[in-house]
Amino acid sequence: MGGILEGKRILVAGVTMDNSLGFAAAKVAQEQGATVLITNFGRALNITKRIAKRLPVEPPVLELDVTNEEHLAGLESAVREHVDGLDGVVHSIAFAPQDALGGNFLNTQWPDVATAVHVSAYSLKGLSMAAMPLLKEGASIVGLTFDASVAWPSYDWMGVAKAGLESCARYLARDLGPKGIRVNLVSAGYTKTLAAGAIPGADVMGTIWGERAPLGWDVEDREATGLAVVALLSDFFPKTTGEIVHVDGGYHAMGA
Ligand code: NAP
Repeated sequence: MGGILEGKRILVAGVTMDNSLGFAAAKVAQEQGATVLITNFGRALNITKRIAKRLPVEPPVLELDVTNEEHLAGLESAVREHVDGLDGVVHSIAFAPQDALGGNFLNTQWPDVATAVHVSAYSLKGLSMAAMPLLKEGASIVGLTFDASVAWPSYDWMGVAKAGLESCARYLARDLGPKGIRVNLVSAGYTKTLAAGAIPGADVMGTIWGERAPLGWDVEDREATGLAVVALLSDFFPKTTGEIVHVDGGYHAMGA
């Protein structure tokens, strides 16, 4: 009782499996007292509906493809079937076509890059605007990034899309701040998920992480990220926006 999200209504966009970072955020949010709604799209929607039962409270599952303008336009009414507003939105969404990942950086064609940027960066703006009629002063939007200030093995155009996401979050913070809405990102260390598994050769980062992070790092631990997302959704960061909080065991701060 008395969790930091008590009475808050939170939409978590991008939950497929119980190893999704969005699942971890949804779980901690419920444990902290929130009413949670989750989204996914397409063929995986049925998987999400099954996975939803593994949360402490089974949440409504809404369909949302962030590249589908009809889905975005219908989000407000879909949410209002369950709750009459939102206090927080979690963007836990990324996708890049195989040609844009895994070391093919110099040969990737624009349509594949465009898809990566649309789904992984521009969608933070799309989701935020779709949710805007549901949000009021004090609301919090939180996205997930993978440190885009450096180049990584295999990450390629997803890294470029993440740089776009990080910039997008700052511009949203600028434009939504006057409405009292905060926009922040959690920069998570390499974690085993469906999305991470789809990047050929990226698992090498898991090994390096454990060796370099001063706090150590467990690629199976998603709760640390979920806790940080929930902290940013809560009222405990009232004057923090346009920020990137690293949940990476301290890896980003080490030179070697
Ligand atoms: P995940 O479980 O695969 O989550 C990614 C989600 O994005 C999936 O639910 C996926 O749905 C959804 N998605 C893809 N295209 C979409 C679209 N057009 N519209 C709506 N949803 C779409 O993997 P994850 O690692 O937890 O990723 C969540 C977030 O954390 C991503 O932003 C990712 O970049 C970020 N992150 C991950 C790591 C890591 O190491 N895993 C580290 C830092 C940041 P489908 O499964 O149906 O395609």
